[in-house]
Amino acid sequence: MTQTVLLIGGGHAHVAVLADWIRHGVPSGARAVLLTPQPHLRYSGMVPGWIAGQHHRDDGLVDLAALAARAGVELALDRCAAIDAEARMVTTALGERLRFDIASIDTGGEGRAAALLGDDPRVIDVRPIGGFVDRLAALPALARVVVAGGGAGGVELAFALRNRAGAPADVALVAGAGGLLPGFARGVQRRVAAALARQGIALHLANARIVGGAIMAGETSLQPADAIIAALGSAAPGWVRTSGLAVDAAGFIAVGADQRSPSHPHIFAAGDVAARTDRVLAHSGVHAVFAGPVLAANLRAALAGREPHKEYHPRWNNLYLMNTGDGSAIASYGPLSAEGAWVLRLKHWIDRRWIAKYAALAGTA
Ligand SMILES: Cc1cc2nc3c(=O)[nH]c(=O)nc-3n(C[C@H](O)[C@H](O)[C@H](O)COP(=O)(O)OP(=O)(O)OC[C@H]3O[C@@H](n4cnc5c(N)ncnc54)[C@H](O)[C@@H]3O)c2cc1C
Repeated sequence: MTQTVLLIGGGHAHVAVLADWIRHGVPSGARAVLLTPQPHLRYSGMVPGWIAGQHHRDDGLVDLAALAARAGVELALDRCAAIDAEARMVTTALGERLRFDIASIDTGGEGRAAALLGDDPRVIDVRPIGGFVDRLAALPALARVVVAGGGAGGVELAFALRNRAGAPADVALVAGAGGLLPGFARGVQRRVAAALARQGIALHLANARIVGGAIMAGETSLQPADAIIAALGSAAPGWVRTSGLAVDAAGFIAVGADQRSPSHPHIFAAGDVAARTDRVLAHSGVHAVFAGPVLAANLRAALAGREPHKEYHPRWNNLYLMNTGDGSAIASYGPLSAEGAWVLRLKHWIDRRWIAKYAALAGTA
């Protein structure tokens, strides 16, 4: 009997699953469907480089539609609005109902701007990243920008907007009371703080909030501001809460090292929407990317009626390369750090190689 495998979300891990199905075929006897709202995945790592004029706007796109076509996967351009894990049924935003035997979820998280900052027409959430790029591209030159969020995304966006191609902005970075780049080594934090100071980006180690229409860093007003960019991490999508799936304290889908739900073994999840039950793992693109091949192997096993046995064991340290927008970049690898134009060249090489790999698989290179 034909089994339906539903990929919900065209995120970084599912791109690896599509690649596996192109190379080795969709698991035999399975009908595969990809449910995702856009025909492309935008690779967030290249967005700061686009803002700074180092990449074209479409350089960082993975063609999901072409990958799905090559893999023999049906594409449903719609979004998951509800999932009933027990009944094995997804309801989409357009009201379609999709039944599945096995599902895998890689939709990323949702923005937290409204919850953490409050409503303001100047606020632009970096999530979803595609919507962020569209909104920023439509904006004219911005004289003064506030970036809220002191993680790697916020830092890179502050540098990028300071060096925005043809329209450099006066930028303030509100890193939060937790400090600049929490979880990174002191040497990396020092290098980033020095680069911010060198470029005239004001750093505020307080929480950002909007009070009476004014953007504040703690008690300090940062008015006037033309735009407020929110890079405040991600929240779990609301539809996960009503799915019946086991979740962590923040509402993200609980998974083991095999990327499988402990409550519903016919459901897998990876990337920012998932949370490991056996260890703490930051929500970051590298983990979505590296979990992809594990997910692909375990989906193949599950569809063949075998016990999924592959596990994702993150590396002890991961390489993070932060673009400083001025022709240089800062590298972080555990306790080690480095900086220079060569780091930016390395970043561009890694990013472009990743995009080129999928363009070749999709036949669009
Ligand atoms: C500016 C910036 C720079 C960053 N740079 C880095 C970096 O250099 N390195 C790094 O490791 N991390 C980086 N990150 C973090 C990284 O972007 C995320 O951790 C990563 O994108 C998560 O991948 P994912 O597969 O979980 O989801 P995503 O990449 O968010 O993909 C989710 C997919 O699911 C689709 N989707 C969304 N909702 C639904 C729905 N309801 N139904 C169906 N489909 C849906 C989306 O359209 C998209 O195709 C950066 C983040 C930002 C903001």
